[in-house]
Amino acid sequence: MIVFNLQCRNSHVFEAWFRDSASYDRQVGAGELVCPTCGSRKIEKALMAPHLGKSKKGEAAIPAAANKKAVMETQEAGEAMKALRGLREKIEKSCDYVGPNFAEEARKIHYGETDPRGIYGETSDQDAKALKDEGVSFGRVPWAPDRDS
Ligand SMILES: [Zn+2]
Repeated sequence: MIVFNLQCRNSHVFEAWFRDSASYDRQVGAGELVCPTCGSRKIEKALMAPHLGKSKKGEAAIPAAANKKAVMETQEAGEAMKALRGLREKIEKSCDYVGPNFAEEARKIHYGETDPRGIYGETSDQDAKALKDEGVSFGRVPWAPDRDS
């Protein structure tokens, strides 16, 4: 036996037990399920987004909805990581890497002591603050980890 949370067209939610998932599909298909509150025969599983999971069998309503959310979050995290990697690749291609000398190089460029160019490197919070105080414009970006690390 399995239990489903069901919902009628008027948003009345109720529990119903079925021998198995196929039994639910058969009964709802045949219009045998009736809302105990209003008598509506327009019944579907509750707590699921419309058009999702209707054809899937053997899933209780609540765990299916929860699983869907977890997958979505994982995909979004993957997308964000991909975007960060893209950003990193662009910076690596178009800028000179100056390592820990970033603050020094940025100052030279700012004061015209060297050719203006894009650079990237590491800087401490202290140096970053000092640069900002001097009016040197730069950005700090989250750095995507290496693919294989
Ligand atoms: Zn109802």
